[in-house]
Amino acid sequence: MCRHLAYLGPPVSLRSLLFDPPYSLVRQSWAPRDMRGGGTVNADGFGVGWYPGDGEPVRYRRAQPIWGDVTLPGLAEVTTAGAVLAAVRSATDGMPVQESAAAPFAEGRWLFSHNGVVRGWPDSVVSLAAALPVRDLLTLDAPTDSALLWALLRHRLRSGVDPAEAVAATVGEVEKAAPGSRLNLLLTDGRTVVASAAGHALSVRATPEAVLLASEPHDDDPGWRPVPAGQLVVATSTSVRTRALAGA
Ligand code: GLN
Repeated sequence: MCRHLAYLGPPVSLRSLLFDPPYSLVRQSWAPRDMRGGGTVNADGFGVGWYPGDGEPVRYRRAQPIWGDVTLPGLAEVTTAGAVLAAVRSATDGMPVQESAAAPFAEGRWLFSHNGVVRGWPDSVVSLAAALPVRDLLTLDAPTDSALLWALLRHRLRSGVDPAEAVAATVGEVEKAAPGSRLNLLLTDGRTVVASAAGHALSVRATPEAVLLASEPHDDDPGWRPVPAGQLVVATSTSVRTRALAGA
């Protein structure tokens, strides 16, 4: 399993999101507090995506542990953004460790991350993959469950489906095809974040001007709220709405 987070609000440094908190994402990579679903560390790569302005996001990803990357601390020190999605990866058994398998996955303004596993991979989801355009399959980011989930979700987004509906529908169809899967998805366009709590923990902390969604709270601030399993969160910097995933 992996750990991920998304932030929307006034510009902050990447350092203040990734390194400074007592249980920061960097710390979660070697000492996560909640690793249900197996794994002990998140050492199989990491990625950070942020929006430098009003345009498309920039990504920095590597296939190595985030704690050993010598470039990220300096980059995080000088980079500020008002919208960030970051993830550390623990590759599911049998899935390759490579940069293109590390979230965030991206297209246009979209950034995407998956925390979890598709059960019975890949046989359980062959029929879902077969419904995608062949071109999407030939250009999958990586031969992993997360990359296929991104292709399924992206296909809906390209068709103009509302992002919250697209996430809920993707979780729904994969749960049906591969029962017992863990499908915590995180999607943002830099203005809105959509997140599912489906098999792994998810917490949210909202202030009047910022929102943070994360696999686990990165500090002991009493403002963190756990998102109940089976819920979908749709947040902007000033609003958080939660509803049942299945009601999509
Ligand atoms: N199954 C995905 C992968 O291997 C996500 C892993 C995870 O959440 N640990 O990349």
